[in-house]
Amino acid sequence: MANKRDYYEVLGVDRNTNADELKKAYRKLAIKYHPDKNPGDKEAESKFKEIAEAYAVLTDPQKKARYDQFGHAGMGGAAGGGGGGGFTVEDIFSQFGDIFGDESPFGSFFGGGRSNGGGRRGVRKGSDLRIKLKLTLNDIAKGVEKKIKVKRYTSCSTCGGNGAKNGSSLNTCGTCQGQGQVRRVQQTMLGQMVTTSTCPTCNGEGKIVAERCETCFGEGRQLTEDQISIKIPGGVTDGMQLSMSGKGNVPVRGGVAGDLLIAVEEEEDPLLKRDGNNIIYDLPLNFVDAVLGSDVEVPTVDGKVKIKIKNGTQSGEVLRLRGKGLPDINGYGVGDQLVHVSLYTPTSITSEEKDILEKLKESPNFEPKPGNNHKSIFDKMKDFFQG
Ligand SMILES: [Zn+2]
Ligand SMILES: [Zn+2]
Repeated sequence: MANKRDYYEVLGVDRNTNADELKKAYRKLAIKYHPDKNPGDKEAESKFKEIAEAYAVLTDPQKKARYDQFGHAGMGGAAGGGGGGGFTVEDIFSQFGDIFGDESPFGSFFGGGRSNGGGRRGVRKGSDLRIKLKLTLNDIAKGVEKKIKVKRYTSCSTCGGNGAKNGSSLNTCGTCQGQGQVRRVQQTMLGQMVTTSTCPTCNGEGKIVAERCETCFGEGRQLTEDQISIKIPGGVTDGMQLSMSGKGNVPVRGGVAGDLLIAVEEEEDPLLKRDGNNIIYDLPLNFVDAVLGSDVEVPTVDGKVKIKIKNGTQSGEVLRLRGKGLPDINGYGVGDQLVHVSLYTPTSITSEEKDILEKLKESPNFEPKPGNNHKSIFDKMKDFFQG
């Protein structure tokens, strides 16, 4: 639409109109061009949109001021597109549904009236179930399949979920004839007024259970203890939520089951600390092993491994065990284990041991030499993470 009509012209009011007149004019035209009164009439539909757009702008003080000053050019956005282009009939209903209040001549819009006998909308979904799952670092390192027991509502095995005795078919609700909604038609000064509401007999389901299933008392579902097998991928982190669709509760009398939401909890390991995908381990090292070199066993997320300690190893040195950390959840490789060496100092010794140590103390090799080997632990750790 190249030439957009003036909003005042669209509603047939003059520029100095007041809110009351505007509403009256809108109402008159909206009823005339209403899609329910003009089924399949494209021109009436576009007129209806044009009217709604004009009304939307002229009843909004800010938009009206802009429009009065700049005309259509000032509107931009949705309304600037031309011919009510930015509006859909549904927008109009959702925006203007309530301007008529209780007198709405459009009652039929908000219920099933517009869905042409479609009745109920969508498939019902049951509620989600939430559980917590504790995992060890070993579980997290390799990924794990856990079998857990969950109490959840599942479809009744006796009636197959419809709630009727022995699974017999349901009766169509007599109140609404299966529509799930009841329409009420009233004569008003504006013509016929139709209001729609959820059928009170069947609660909108359109069907009723004549004789209830004895297992589920007509609910169509039972609380069962289900064993569910959950596959946890490697590299999950504490607080992460996994979901299994369809493993939550089944809704009353049929529909789609909700989801099972699994919150991951990482069990604290007494020896290994997690830092992202890396694992940090504090190795207390015998002073003699540090001097002479040795093979020592260290725990990892995947069991114990032997590592070589070179002779002359310093306290605070960090050894990197490549690939002994945790896998990245997104598949970007595997972290490392960082073994942080700290020399163990005995707190009580015999007089014999004391004699040996006293002798060693006199040797020049035992004289500490300041320099590279005395970088702080912090600096060494930093070097490691940056390197
Ligand atoms: Zn049943
Ligand atoms: Zn009904």
